[in-house]
Amino acid sequence: MSERESSLQPLVQRFEPYQVERLRQAFPILAQRIYGKPLVYLDSAATSQKPQAVIDAMSRFFLEENANVHRGVHYLSLRATEAYEQTRAKVQRFLNAAHAEEIVFVRGTTEAVNLVAQTYGKVHVHAGDEVLISAMEHHSNIVPWQMLCEQSGARLRVAPIDDAGELQLDELERLIGPRTKLLAISHVSNVLGTVNPIQSIVELAHAQGAPVLVDGAQAAPHLQLDVRALGCDFYALSGHKMYGPTGIGALYGRRELLEAMPPYQGGGDMILSVSFDKTLYNKPPYRFEAGTPNMVGAIGLGAAIDFLGGLDADALAAHEQAVLAYAQEALATVPGLRLIGTARDKIGVLSFVLDGIHPHDIGTILDREGIAIRTGHHCAQPLMQRYGLAATARASLGCYSNEQDIDALLAGLAKVQEVFR
Ligand code: PMP
Repeated sequence: MSERESSLQPLVQRFEPYQVERLRQAFPILAQRIYGKPLVYLDSAATSQKPQAVIDAMSRFFLEENANVHRGVHYLSLRATEAYEQTRAKVQRFLNAAHAEEIVFVRGTTEAVNLVAQTYGKVHVHAGDEVLISAMEHHSNIVPWQMLCEQSGARLRVAPIDDAGELQLDELERLIGPRTKLLAISHVSNVLGTVNPIQSIVELAHAQGAPVLVDGAQAAPHLQLDVRALGCDFYALSGHKMYGPTGIGALYGRRELLEAMPPYQGGGDMILSVSFDKTLYNKPPYRFEAGTPNMVGAIGLGAAIDFLGGLDADALAAHEQAVLAYAQEALATVPGLRLIGTARDKIGVLSFVLDGIHPHDIGTILDREGIAIRTGHHCAQPLMQRYGLAATARASLGCYSNEQDIDALLAGLAKVQEVFR
């Protein structure tokens, strides 16, 4: 074990009570200065920063284990395969799925949704059917369904939200009917921070025989997940939002559903046998993993899950809620600031607009202060339209965010207002 590893190991395990300052030391990038100012990273909803343990696991894979998985009989290939499949089991435990075969590795949430649309959707959604989504979806949980509807002649329906950014459950219930062939909904909104009541939504959908896909991109880094308790049929997540690398994510699918689904892409690894007359497909999850997978990405995702597992989940949630409450109070003191997304149940995403100042100007001025926030439509243009906005500024929190980050944001916003006075 290297010196760095041995100093990190206990760090990850000793977070009771939550020691955010020590936790920050596990993220080397946070020590950087930007334009001579300490980095204030408030863009974790776009992508999270990576702890040293994830970086180390990935470089260790290249240094010691790299070989193609599932194909070789040699030592390194077997070792790489074992590491890759161990991550599948880690994702299974992370989601509390019943079987490791219910976990399909994908590039991320976007690919997971496209996979379900183009396999399950192609088989089950026909002309006259309906796919139901909500008004707060990310484009990656809208466009794949629009594409499916165009291909099949089905209709895309949209459950509305109220001004606070909460789903209108009575309206959702009204929209679910015998034509509904699938309901696709985000667990947590990337713009509003709203946490949707997935369990209740699943009950409503299942009562009408409609399976439910949950977009968990924003939930996975913040909430304790249990797909069996949620009752959902599919659950999608992205590694890079949960302290892991880009280019890797997972799709959970209930075994019976995955087994009945046709392949997504054709190629190596997804087959049992190939001849020019007939190809027999492999069983799930391999049926859906054509080609050499993102092995090092999977290793990094596994390390990220270990990292999250090393934190006390209740303490993490309490810390993130405390910083969110602090931020909401702080932002309420800024003249002319309107918070978009005030749901009762929400996580640390703070979208806002400032009277008379374009969000891009806010982002640019804050950047010169070393503060990273996101501005724009956040890949949720229909949601922006719902609020009559073209864009918002968005500060989003991660496990390493602290009250000093919010103080810096507040000081930065005062500078923004000075410039536009
Ligand atoms: N859904 C939500 C709610 C998201 O926030 C994002 C990423 N911004 C996605 C889906 C897409 O994730 P990815 O780009 O990792 O595929």
